[in-house]
Amino acid sequence: MNHMPESVQESAGHWQRDLASAIRSVDALLERLGLSADQFQGFASEATLRRFPLLVPESFVNRMEHGDPADPLLRQVLPFGDEDRDVAGFVSDAVGDLQARRGPGLIQKYAGRVLLITTGACAVHCRYCFRRDYPYVDEPRRLEEWSAPLAMIAEDTSIHEVILSGGDPLMLNDGRLETLCRQLDEIAHLERLRIHTRLPIVLPSRVTEALIRLLQSLRVQPVFVIHSNHANELTGDCAEAVKRLGRSGFPVLNQAVLLKGINDTVEAQEQLSRRLMQLGVIPYYLHQLDRVSGSSHFEVPESLGLDIHRRLRELLPGYGVPRYVQEIPGRKSKTELPDIL
Ligand SMILES: *Cc1c(COP(=O)(O)O)cnc(C)c1O
Ligand code: SF4
Repeated sequence: MNHMPESVQESAGHWQRDLASAIRSVDALLERLGLSADQFQGFASEATLRRFPLLVPESFVNRMEHGDPADPLLRQVLPFGDEDRDVAGFVSDAVGDLQARRGPGLIQKYAGRVLLITTGACAVHCRYCFRRDYPYVDEPRRLEEWSAPLAMIAEDTSIHEVILSGGDPLMLNDGRLETLCRQLDEIAHLERLRIHTRLPIVLPSRVTEALIRLLQSLRVQPVFVIHSNHANELTGDCAEAVKRLGRSGFPVLNQAVLLKGINDTVEAQEQLSRRLMQLGVIPYYLHQLDRVSGSSHFEVPESLGLDIHRRLRELLPGYGVPRYVQEIPGRKSKTELPDIL
């Protein structure tokens, strides 16, 4: 990194400072937004918050409406008392990750592509997260521990794509990320390196010149799948970061989750798709909520999802309509709704 101009080196450390200053308590978040606790129906218990604390960077908070308890960004990160409820059908491993685990850090459900759990860390804690109970402590942490999953990928010539996931793979610092990417790049049968990340949305300062140059230097084709649920997320520094990824030559796709009270209207979905297209991003998937414990209050009935989706097809160009999908354990691909057996 010594040859880089100073300004670029500085920006490389910026995101870590932004992360360190993220908001980590309900009280601090409410105060920052000019809200009070009695505008809500109660928050998650201490026990729930110890397991999955509130976490949200300033940049994301800046895009919330001051004084609005129903803000769609706020509602993705506020831990409501509903999280403590035990609801039939909502379980800890809703998508069958553990039965699809091929080895340390490696999940394979579908032909030709494997998912690498690179870290348990995220820059934001989305309260509906399907991996909120994932046993990350069992997965590789130090670089040396990646040698086992990397060897498995190297041995299996049917694998053409590695998906860096987590947690959020861009939480790795540049050094670790580069080591991992270069090792994967050497595996001749790999064609693509997919990065599933929410950091361009919640911590846009992570999209640095150094990151872009690293990915541009690879033999494999990088593909970004970002995770934005609402058009209000895609403004300011986030919009700049997202646009920059596309203009740096990477395909950028978006996946969203259909969330009650957040984006469960035709208008919200239409706005989201239009904002994404405006920034050069193709809407890829709209996920029906994975039924993970503590997330039942986010669930939108499939019938409403189908109505919204039908209307989107009438309002948007074909490439602006995400596929409405559900992840059903044991299937060979994501399941498009309404094609459920
Ligand atoms: C969702 C998922 C993928 C990616 O599926 P695509 O349809 O290729 O986007 C890959 N592996 C696992 C384990 C997944 O859950
Ligand atoms: S960024 Fe993704 S993995 Fe991280 S908390 Fe949100 S949904 Fe979960």
